[in-house]
Formats: sequence, structure tokens, C-alpha cells
Amino acid sequence: MAETRSTCPYCGVGCGVLIQTEGAQITGVRGDPDHPANFGKLCSKGSTLHLTATQSVAEQTRLMHPLQRQRRDAAPEGLSWDSALGTAAERFASIIGQHGPDAVGFYVSGQLLTEDYYVFNKLAKGLIGTNNIDTNSRLCMSSAVAGYKLTLGADAPPACYDDVNHANCLFFVGSNAAWAHPVLFRRIEEARAANPAMKVIVADPRRTDTAEMADLFLPLQPGTDTMLFHGMLHTMLWEGWIDADYIERHTTGFAELKTLVREATPEHTAQICGLRKEDIRQAAQWFAQSGPTLSLYCQGLNQSVNGTAKNAALINLHLATGQIGKPGAGPFSLTGQPNAMGGREVGGLANLLSAHRDLSNPAHRAEVAALWGVESVPAQPGKTAIEMFQAAADGEIKALWIACTNPAQSLPNQSTVRRALERAEYVVVQEAFATTATCAFADLLLPATTWGEKEGTVTNSERRISRVRPAVPPPGNTRHDWQIATQFAQCLEPLLRPGQPTLFPYAKAQDIWNEHRESTRGRDLDITGLSWTMLEDNGPQQWPLKEGAQQGKARLYEDGQFPTPDGRARFSALTWQPVAEPRTARFPFSLNTGRLRDQWHGMSRTGQLGRLFGHVPEPCLQMHPQDMARRALGEGDLVHITSPRGTIIAPVQADDSLALSQLFMALHWGGEYLSGKSSTGERLAGVNTLTNPAFCPLSKQPEFKHTAVKVLKAELP
Ligand code: SF4
Repeated sequence: MAETRSTCPYCGVGCGVLIQTEGAQITGVRGDPDHPANFGKLCSKGSTLHLTATQSVAEQTRLMHPLQRQRRDAAPEGLSWDSALGTAAERFASIIGQHGPDAVGFYVSGQLLTEDYYVFNKLAKGLIGTNNIDTNSRLCMSSAVAGYKLTLGADAPPACYDDVNHANCLFFVGSNAAWAHPVLFRRIEEARAANPAMKVIVADPRRTDTAEMADLFLPLQPGTDTMLFHGMLHTMLWEGWIDADYIERHTTGFAELKTLVREATPEHTAQICGLRKEDIRQAAQWFAQSGPTLSLYCQGLNQSVNGTAKNAALINLHLATGQIGKPGAGPFSLTGQPNAMGGREVGGLANLLSAHRDLSNPAHRAEVAALWGVESVPAQPGKTAIEMFQAAADGEIKALWIACTNPAQSLPNQSTVRRALERAEYVVVQEAFATTATCAFADLLLPATTWGEKEGTVTNSERRISRVRPAVPPPGNTRHDWQIATQFAQCLEPLLRPGQPTLFPYAKAQDIWNEHRESTRGRDLDITGLSWTMLEDNGPQQWPLKEGAQQGKARLYEDGQFPTPDGRARFSALTWQPVAEPRTARFPFSLNTGRLRDQWHGMSRTGQLGRLFGHVPEPCLQMHPQDMARRALGEGDLVHITSPRGTIIAPVQADDSLALSQLFMALHWGGEYLSGKSSTGERLAGVNTLTNPAFCPLSKQPEFKHTAVKVLKAELP
């Protein structure tokens, strides 16, 4: 038996794994005892990875050869890689020739490796000349990005996992880390057991497993987080619990914020948030006065039309109390996907460029053009996830390239997504799994390698870069994601810039890493000191790690200097905004969606294992028992759940962890499990038949955490 060091492909904790193999078969997995994210521990998903990579699972689930359809309703036929990539290049070049570069779009994934992401970004922005490249990380982290940049000057989470061992107060907001980041949560439980003085505050509309450990649980109304933070700051000001010296020396904009939060009295805040004013005061006191306070937050803040304001208002609390840049203190966003961070680092979003550069900055565009050896990078902002599929549905985007993600299940308002995929003239799906709903819409299916086969790097929530290594050779006729993007680019180059040397001279993942590394020189995430050899020899490293440094930085802003023009952090005076679609008499419930402990995204991988259904065996709508009683609903009754966009049908289950008028449904279940239809009668599936595509105007992240719905008992025929 051999063992290969790699990284878990699921959540942003980024646990190290040792993949066990016999010959070309993956036979086992164990936690890497030397990886600083998990020290050998794995959760239910990570510890069963090998069972999702067996030959029999692969035979049932994997795409093994390139396939194309002559017509959308025809069965796919096999073709060679040369033919597949050549055809794709001709179709893309033809559409670009007729309609311009913005007639094509790339929709990629936080599950790609950094090197994959880098090539796709360069392909779209450098070679084709469109910024229409966005990622499913738009759905999970873009509000955190916008919040950090607005206040601290850079998209750089300032804290690290070790901070949980130094904190005296943990403030969880919109994070069910017990399920979404289980190995980190275990570390938190141990830290708490070792520190009896530690206070834990959990703010969440649901009393989740994470909330069960809270000393203070704040079951706030959906979408009211910004108001809660403003109310806490009001109390801190009133009681004199702020750090005036830190504010004076290291920040700007406090006077404006002070004026804004004057209105956020305990009474007013309690009324808006649905909380007790005594609890708001207690939260403010513990946050400001316990000693180091660490805030841990995730989709509950991010997936909101007020997402950027929520992030910024929470960071305000850290700045106002000086709870940043020291052990155990800071705002710490937890990334949902394994490489949402790496995607941000290479600028794999429609509004970003390599190494945290901004598309809106002419100097940054010129720097990236020079790095890539192209004349220019277009200034026109690209379409973000929701905008891209709306533009395809409207006929504006005519070719879509979708890599390693499943928008036909995961994007909100599936009716528009369906229209986009049907209307686009040419759809390429680059995927490891043949089972995703999006594959059904592809003109061309390109088989990609996946965990256990791929090579490259990922970055976890604490800015730690880890190697992903292949333990077995690529199965069938699959290729690596970076290879597919590179080879497509090389087919496209003679059609778009004939006679010029290739911009994509990559023979291995390391070549791309080296180019990415150089692009970070002088930037906040500078990793010019982190060679491939250092990663090989010394293991995972945190950024920044500048040339000459021996190791990266565990935490940022320890000197009170921020990457803003004047070196000071900026308070944000963004106001609270209610949810986009408030509850009404017609749609009286608030539907929240989220993850389960033992499933991952659309279940392409975890759905193959019976044992992972032991925790939650089937989709259901969770509802407070009193709401069920009022509607004469019994446990397991089938109900129609209807939003302005469509209806799905599911069994209902009593759950007193929810407040009255609030509902919860897991996001994982797709077409085979949850049938539905749009408001105009098309057949759709999954909870995103219902969800609202409204997004935060600054981060463009949609509001998955609240959809106004009604629930009616289904009459059986
Ligand atoms: Fe994988 Fe996340 Fe579980 Fe770690 S906590 S084993 S990264 S799913």
C-alpha cells in the first residue's frame, strides 16, 4: 500500500488527507497528522472519500470520454479530444467574430484548483478579451470579499484557526460550523473545554447544532444582522466599551458611523431583529469586554441583498473595540468551498484581476496585461453569476462554458437558468460527473479528472495554501481542468491572434503556479517566497510569504497598518436594508436554505454512499410544530411550497429549532428527489425552483437565506 499527501475536496477548512492506494486503486483515506488545518482529524465526508472513488462508483457516475450532441434532444456521441477542442474553438471564434467577445461567458467553480482557475481567467480576460468569467463562489463568498475590501482595504481574512485557542469570546453569525466546517468546530469545542471563561454567542434565525453550544443565542429575524451589529455598537458607545485609542490611531470614518448608529437604540434594534434588548446588551458587553473576540461567519451574512453591509458592520465592531490583529481576535469569514480563496487570489471573478487587483483600476489592468503579454485587459465589467445566466436567457450571451459546477441545480430561480441553457447557441460542460443536471444541456461534454487524480494547489479559509496531489492516474480519457482550458486556449489562439506565440505554454500545474506566484509580487497576498519546492518540503503555508521570508503570516494587521491609501482601516456607514421579498399575507413564510452535515452540494459524490444518508435520509421541509398544527399538517404530510417563481412538493417535518413563520430546506436535493414547476408551468426541480435571484448591489451575491413562500397541504389524487 502507498500513501499520497493531498487535501480534502469538500469544505474550506482544507483538511490534509493521506490517500491510500494499491496499484491504480484508491483503497483508503486518513487524516494527515501533520496538516495544521486538521492534525489528522476528518469529518464524516472526508473520512469516506475513498468510498466515493472506487471503480464501481466511477463506472456509474463519471464522464470518461468527450461527448457531443448534434441536437440538444439527441443522445451524445463520442469524439476525440482533438476534434472536441477544435470544434469548441471554432464555435467560440465564430460567435466572437459575429457578436464580439462579450457574447461568450465562462462559469467556473470554487472546487477548481488555483492553477485551473488561473488559466480560465487568463483565457477569458487575456485571450478572448471578455470579463464574462464568474464562479459559483459568487454564491458563497463575494459579500465577504466586498466587506473586507471596503473596510480593511484588501480581501484578506486577518485571523487563523489557531485564534480559536486564544479567544475569550466567540461570536458565530450566520454560520452552522458544527455541520459546515466540522473539523474546525471540533477544535473550537476543545478550545472551549480548555477555557471555562470563554463566552460563545451565536446569532442565527435557526437554533442549529452550533447554537446548542451558545451561552447566548440570538435568534434574529432573517436579514437583520446589520441592524444587530449597529445596535451592539450603539450600546458599546453608550457604555463606553469602545477602544477610542485604536479608533484614533488606526481608522477613519468613525464620526459618520456614530451618527448612523444613533438611531439603533436597544429598543429599536430589538424590535427590528426580533430579539430581547437585554440580550443585545449582553452580546455587546461580551464582544467588547471578554478579552480577545473572534467572529466566525459564513453564508448567513453573505447570502443576502444586504450582504456587504452585514460583513462591513461586523468588521466595524472589531475596529471599534480594537479586536483585530492580535491573537484570538478578528473577523474571520469561513469559506464554503475548498478553493473559494484560491479563485479570489487569481482574480477568478468578473470584477477582479490576478492577485487581488481590481478590474476598475486602469493601472491594475495594465499590470496584468503586461504580465500576460497581451495588449490590454478590457475595462468593461463582466457579468456576475446571476447576470451571466440572465444575459444568456435574454440572448445576449450565446456561448457558455461551465466547468466543475452545476448551475442547473445550484443557481437561484431555476426558470431563468433553464431558459439560459436552452437558449444559448453553444454550451460546453467540463465535468468529472455525468450525473449533474447541467450535463443534460451540453452540446459538448468534456470529461475532467477529480479528487485523487488532480495536481495543483488550494487555499483554505485561513489563507493556507496546500498541495493537491494525484494518487492514481486519470481514468478513461479524462484530462485535468487546467489542461482542458490550456488546450482549448491553444486551439483558439490561431483563430483570434494568428501567427503569435502561445500565451499558454504550460506543460504541468507547476508552470502555472510559477506564473501566478510572480503575479503576486508587491501585492497584499505576495507569495514570491513560496516556491513549489518549499510547498513540497515544508508543507502547507499561509500567505503572504514574501521573497526571503521563511514562513507566512498567521494573522494580519498586527501593526495596525492596513492596505488602504492612508494605511488606516475604514469604518463603513452602510445602512441596514430589509430582505428583498418580505413575507406577506400571500407568502407568509420565510424559507431558509443551507447545508446538511453529511452531504456536499448537489451530491454528485456524497450521494453515492448510503451511509451518508443515515443523518438525513430524504429531502423535507422543516417547520415549527405550531405552524404545522395551525395548518393541520402531520409529520410526513406532502406539501406544496410555492414562491412567486414556482412550486415544489416535499414532505413536512416538525422542527422546533425554527422560529414561527420560518422554514428550512437543505440545498442538496436535485431532480430525482424534488420535483416542481415554475410559475409558468415548466417542469423544474430542487429548492432553487423557488429561490430569489435578487442580489446585494455591491457584491452581487444572491439572497439564498430568505425566500417568501406559502405552504399548502398537497391533495393526493
Ligand atoms: Fe473535508 Fe471539511 Fe470535513 Fe475537513 S471538515 S474533512 S475539509 S469536509
